[in-house]
Amino acid sequence: MQGAMSENIRHYLEVFRSLTYDAAGSGTPHERLSRLVSRVATELRWDVCSIYVLDEAGGSLVLTATHGLDHRSVGRIRIPIAEGLVGCAASEEKPIFLANAAQDARFRYFPETGEERFVSMAAVPMMRDGRVSGVLTVQTVEPYEFSTADRHFLEILAQHIAQVVDVALTLRSVRSSRVHAFHGTAVSPGIAEARVHLFESSPDRITVAARGFRGLDFEMKLFEKAMSAALAEINQLVHQLNSISPPAAQIFIAHRMMIEDPMFQQDVRKHISKDSESAPRAVAKVMNAYIEKFASIGNPVLQEKSSDLKGLRDTLLRLMMDEKVTRFAPEFEEENMVVVARELTPQQMFQLDASKVVAVLTEKGSESSHVAIIARALNFPAIVGVEAIIDSLHPEDRVLVDGASGYVFVNPDEDLKKQYFARMEENRRRVASIDAELTGAAIPPDRVESDVFLDANIGLPFEIEEATKKSFTAVGLFRTEFFYMQHRMWPDEKVQRAFYARLLNAFPTDTVAIRLLDIGGDKFLSYLPAAREENPHLGFRSVRLLLANPEILRSQIRAIHEAAKETGKIPRILVPMVTHTWELVAVKEILLDVTQGVAYPMGIMVEVPGALFQIEEFAAEADFISIGTNDLAQYLLAVDRNNARVNHLSHPLHPSLLRALSHLRKSLAAAGKPYSVCGEMAGDPISAMALLILGYRHLTIAPPRVSEIRYMLRCLPKELLPTMADPLLSMGEAGISEKILRLALREHAPLLA
Ligand code: PEP
Ligand code: MG
Repeated sequence: MQGAMSENIRHYLEVFRSLTYDAAGSGTPHERLSRLVSRVATELRWDVCSIYVLDEAGGSLVLTATHGLDHRSVGRIRIPIAEGLVGCAASEEKPIFLANAAQDARFRYFPETGEERFVSMAAVPMMRDGRVSGVLTVQTVEPYEFSTADRHFLEILAQHIAQVVDVALTLRSVRSSRVHAFHGTAVSPGIAEARVHLFESSPDRITVAARGFRGLDFEMKLFEKAMSAALAEINQLVHQLNSISPPAAQIFIAHRMMIEDPMFQQDVRKHISKDSESAPRAVAKVMNAYIEKFASIGNPVLQEKSSDLKGLRDTLLRLMMDEKVTRFAPEFEEENMVVVARELTPQQMFQLDASKVVAVLTEKGSESSHVAIIARALNFPAIVGVEAIIDSLHPEDRVLVDGASGYVFVNPDEDLKKQYFARMEENRRRVASIDAELTGAAIPPDRVESDVFLDANIGLPFEIEEATKKSFTAVGLFRTEFFYMQHRMWPDEKVQRAFYARLLNAFPTDTVAIRLLDIGGDKFLSYLPAAREENPHLGFRSVRLLLANPEILRSQIRAIHEAAKETGKIPRILVPMVTHTWELVAVKEILLDVTQGVAYPMGIMVEVPGALFQIEEFAAEADFISIGTNDLAQYLLAVDRNNARVNHLSHPLHPSLLRALSHLRKSLAAAGKPYSVCGEMAGDPISAMALLILGYRHLTIAPPRVSEIRYMLRCLPKELLPTMADPLLSMGEAGISEKILRLALREHAPLLA
């Protein structure tokens, strides 16, 4: 006992020491306080830790930081002094520790926080210069007796917070942040104003815990129903996967065994019947115990199993929880919503109801993340990397989204809206003027346009028609993964074949480069579960995954080959993320085996730095080469394309990237095989101009970008480009290069500037 107690105290001291350092760390007072409550809660396993600060008038305590309560109530919840446990702790200047808080006469419930599910509570006054300045609270879902060590720790911690954090300043920063604008990376232009739809994609612990018991019969039936639904889903998946990827099928066979395990079922039923737990809560408890058991064993295989089980747990919870937050894709009660999410996967983007979504905001992501690429294709204004927005918004809030500047205004007033609508109108006129410049007129021979090829960069099925409408006659990159993401299972080969036939039929023969499945990194198929990796972009991705799962590759090639036979068109096959020449050779061998000797033009994506200096060898094997600047920049600059925290470290005009692209172009010209650029750089006027200056003449761009790029090509005089090559390559900073290019654009293509 003594040993356990001193162990406890040692742990507290350790946590306390690290908090002391952290409190002096970076960020606004409010950010530091938020970090602190999160650390206290997670390291000491309390479900909630919050800080209430006494307002200037001294009449009420304002919720200023919380881990565990609804973040949206920060700055909104005000507890009158002497009311409720928090108010009493402050007015009596005495800490309160209760194993069952609701039974205490002083307890008051604030529905905005969603705190009815917490049983035990400690409220400790924070004192500064002999006066109360706020209250620190911790709460737990399960009944908890606060030990002497807990009490001492919380009292010391409360005083520590009062000393090191200027609480008054913190309160001001919370207040001022209520009337705000957020800023992120603008990835898809356009302006929209609408109510927010806050989107959480997985059932979180608190939501599950909050769902009350609805009677024995109801909960038992719900559990049985969820098990049968999960089993049906799993059986169907196993059936599909057996022929495509037996290792993936094995994962689901293990899920099936788990669900069918009598011990598991018995445990869940026991929690429901004996402890009156809701079915979701009982399942979460039992599964979490298994997950923790596996995770705590230092064996990577079992740890992997633990993350698999999380997937199974979430499936069961999804099938049982009816709260909105558990839905995989948002459902909208009304038209015109701005979807706000921490992160959206490409799959989730597809599930958005395009007729109701007017803009998308995410906390993660960057210019070249796939979510951004899809948003542009779908024509939503979108801003990614908008830090900490979701917790600051209320479901009733409206936002004005400016997809060109990256600004988001919360509850904008009429003046601001008027300004923006005027800007929208101005932009519409600008686009119309660009289109007018391009229609009818012949291409002047002294302009860059007459030397440049523009191919389409597409991937969504509807973009096939979009590209033909915009007069594209070739597809430089067709990303096939989006087609597979739109299916819940690996599509039948007949379905695949029909899709590829539709694609090939839309363009002349030998002009469509179909890229083989590029899965991994940030793109996953729900029905091909991937092992969790520390560095997915550097891991089991693209051609690596295809060669390890030849049945997937064979199925895709077979479908393309059948579509080629049906349409009489020759497809071009593009292999993603090639790092070794043998990878291309291996894919070719599989292709020839599947097609029984029918060869198609085969190309590679140059998108990893490892391919930059081996162009001669690659060109000897490949018929064409496509340069993926999105991944090339990601790998060359070591900046994760989805990580908003490091996004500012990447720039398409980074001197090393430009010099690498210049070197690459010279190697490609010497190798004598056709080449083009298909990354997002090719579709942005400034970076496309840089590519032209470096000598590239073949660009693959998304259809919505064609007018601006064509207009730029029409405006730029041919003789200008060679004169800018040396200055651009000698520039030591991306920002300066950007200014120089913008100046030139302003002079020659005024409608773009
Ligand atoms: C690229 O990396 O530049 C590219 C075109 O491929 P993706 O964006 O699909 O990774
Ligand atoms: Mg890529």
